[in-house]
Amino acid sequence: MSVLPVPRRVALISVHTSPLAQPGTGDAGGMNVYVWQTATRLARRGVEVEIFTRATSSSDAPVVEAAPGVLVRHVVAGPFEGLDKQDLPGQLCAFTAGVLRAEAMNDPGYYDLIHSHYWLSGQVGWLARDRWSVPLVHTAHTLAAVKNASLAKGDTAEPRLREIGEQQVVDEADRLVANTATEAAELAAMYGADPERIDIVTPGADLDCYTTGSKAKARAELGLDPGERIVTFVGRIQPLKAPDVLLAAAAPLIHRSWQPDSGVPPLRVLIVGGPSGTGLERPGVLIEQAAQLGISEAVTFLPPQPSARLADVYRASDLVAVPSYSESFGLVAIEAQACGTPVIAARVGGLGVAVADGTSGLLVDGHEIDAWTSALESLLWQPDRLAELAASARGHAEQFSWEHTADRLLRSYGQAMRSLESSKHAVLKEHLNHKGALGLDGIGQRV
Ligand code: UDP
Repeated sequence: MSVLPVPRRVALISVHTSPLAQPGTGDAGGMNVYVWQTATRLARRGVEVEIFTRATSSSDAPVVEAAPGVLVRHVVAGPFEGLDKQDLPGQLCAFTAGVLRAEAMNDPGYYDLIHSHYWLSGQVGWLARDRWSVPLVHTAHTLAAVKNASLAKGDTAEPRLREIGEQQVVDEADRLVANTATEAAELAAMYGADPERIDIVTPGADLDCYTTGSKAKARAELGLDPGERIVTFVGRIQPLKAPDVLLAAAAPLIHRSWQPDSGVPPLRVLIVGGPSGTGLERPGVLIEQAAQLGISEAVTFLPPQPSARLADVYRASDLVAVPSYSESFGLVAIEAQACGTPVIAARVGGLGVAVADGTSGLLVDGHEIDAWTSALESLLWQPDRLAELAASARGHAEQFSWEHTADRLLRSYGQAMRSLESSKHAVLKEHLNHKGALGLDGIGQRV
């Protein structure tokens, strides 16, 4: 098999969220981390990466060299502030114009490939791909059809507009990158994507930042009690992530554990992250829920944390909970395990890959509060079981590195470039054959 081509320069499109934003609130989450981590790894492999994202502040410089070999281009498309994600489809024309303009300032053939993230970026990539005659690789990150099939109570369904736009991108992309085999199967079954065009590329964790370490030290850093048992939620506060399920399920255990003669350490829930999306966007919603459940004193809220500090959060926790209704992968689960902390997660989407059920954590079916209470109890009050899972957590997480992700992405890029080359070659050949049949030479002269 011949060596696959490697792009010199990739246009990476991330319309709705910048890799420079702090993840954990608003629209900034796993996709930002993914874009940043893969861009820097690709750059280290000699591929220049230019990330196009929407300018959201007048202070965003048009071009920022964010790391060696990684440029972030802030495209002005609509007002800097006050524009929701659902308003962005109306700005795609302006955004695409900005992308095309950046390329036009350079030599033709400046970008070898486009990698779009989320369907909004896919729409931009589709047009730019046609204009530049380069391949389009697309990562969906989340799929509307999957999300709509397992909505949280009170959550808003993804609009038809997105379903249509997402379908178009799936149909148009030269290659699709899926986080797991589950996602690849969903793309095939729900969107009719040809499995031959799908590459399964698992995301990773920064294994140098997320490392095991002293729990006591991490708790001291964060001002947390060394004697408590701590279960932690990390992520954007939104219905899909189900932090409310964790609070409700932990409440009876908290009540019991805080009795003077309970025989178990007092339980605390730590919630790290900020509001995002619909339903739980009011910062006070979880605070009110904790008050109604009578557990306010046993719940600690922390705003979004940078990764180095988040590593301490994971180390300080006895267990990290990811009760999401749907999750295409779940970076938080891998990061927590990389810090040696077991994970309890809903058995949905990519979490079945991110957590080794019974080895590095526990998967729970459904979102029934009683089932979650029992599952939490089976771990939190069983220190030996927790210790056993913790001992395997780092090993499981080590399978998921961003280096591995970058290698697999390069393979996907290479395949996309090779297919395009052969289809261009086939078109040219057909064109020449056609001319030959008409008695024309290669430049259209009659022979
Ligand atoms: N995150 C962070 N600080 C926080 C909360 C979250 O940096 O306070 C990051 C976290 O490290 C993870 C990402 O946000 O990499 C969330 O990714 P995940 O896949 O868990 O969820 P998503 O946001 O993609 O739905």
